[in-house]
Amino acid sequence: MTTQTPMAFLLVKFQGNKDEPMTKADAEQMFTTAGSGTMNVIDWFHDNTHGHIDMSGNAVFGWLQLTETVDGYTTKRTNGTYGRTKIIDLGRAAAAAAGIDLSRFTAVVVVTNVEVDLFGGSGIVCCTAATAGKQFWERQTAPSVLCQEMIHGLGVYTHARRHGSNADYSDPYDVMSMFNAWPGHNPIDVTIPVGPGLNAAFMKRCGWLDSTRAAPIGQVTLRPLHRRDLTGALYSMVGEYYVEYRPSRRWDTGFSSVVLVHYIADDTSYLVAELGNGSDFSWGNPLWPFESHGSIKVDAIDDGAETATITTSYSPARRIPLDGPAWSVFGGEFADAGGLVILGGRIIRIPPRSPELRLVEAAAALASISDVQLTPTLKTAARADIYAKVAVDIDEAHEHITGVSSPLDHLTAEEARNFHRHDSAK
Ligand SMILES: [Zn+2]
Repeated sequence: MTTQTPMAFLLVKFQGNKDEPMTKADAEQMFTTAGSGTMNVIDWFHDNTHGHIDMSGNAVFGWLQLTETVDGYTTKRTNGTYGRTKIIDLGRAAAAAAGIDLSRFTAVVVVTNVEVDLFGGSGIVCCTAATAGKQFWERQTAPSVLCQEMIHGLGVYTHARRHGSNADYSDPYDVMSMFNAWPGHNPIDVTIPVGPGLNAAFMKRCGWLDSTRAAPIGQVTLRPLHRRDLTGALYSMVGEYYVEYRPSRRWDTGFSSVVLVHYIADDTSYLVAELGNGSDFSWGNPLWPFESHGSIKVDAIDDGAETATITTSYSPARRIPLDGPAWSVFGGEFADAGGLVILGGRIIRIPPRSPELRLVEAAAALASISDVQLTPTLKTAARADIYAKVAVDIDEAHEHITGVSSPLDHLTAEEARNFHRHDSAK
């Protein structure tokens, strides 16, 4: 299903600074249908959401005049008079003063002429058109880092991760890793970063993956994940794993052609394998039937034909035998990783690898501590330990839902500077 999510791009300049780092016409090329087909922001969303997000209603306004000077604004931010989202209020006020009605837009993107911030939150995005002193991948008015902030603007706050860590921004093949991702160069203007795309697991997490284009288990041919215009399967689901072919084309020229494997946990994607020709990824042990096992092998990557041939196998976990009516309750997909809770006479499904599951596990551990043979002191210590872990989980889940996302939310100022300097070698 296609959702119309028109965004208003407000080009704004501070008092006393006449810089206009981008013309209105160039902004319309980049952000609106005026530039469709030139690998602009609209094209990025069309391809990387499998057509679910339609930005064709985007519009550009400006340059509009803010009521503040840069120095005045910065001072008020530093002394706490202004919160982080004040720049959005100032941009909206400038639009209102110019008689612009923003009511039809899903989100407002304030594009400042001097850099003051970069963030995205539900309905709001801030970036700059200024490019002086920036590396090419740091350019914000491009279908790259900005798309990550615009996805936050659509209410999706998580970032891409790598298996083995809960650190954000750690999957270089995904735009949701921000400055740690590997963009390519726009073929028409190489100073403009493009991509990378979104991985299948993250698309699924957002409700954007076209589930009619999945391949069955066995030897199959995959087409590039974002190429709905080609016939054939665009990804494969092997147990909980999403397998996709990402050729070094279009949004993905920042890296070599690869087959990627991801899973979904904590409302985001985790990269677990990067496979070239002939390599494989497997999990589980066929001799242990109560856990799932499977394998993914890349037989051939053929960029000329725009295909990757893979062979997959999968055996779901066998059900752990239980007597009585519980048999049906614990069958099927629940045997693997999730759980069921019976509370107030209702059966509640708990998804695998979710904050909910960790809370339930913590509750179960707390409830069973009194049954185990421990000294009262040790029991108290164990309870404190469990509550401390739950507090961390709740904090993280809360941040994902409520935070205005940007690297500056997660990192110290020093880390953020190093982060910007990070050379992706592309
Ligand atoms: Zn972000």
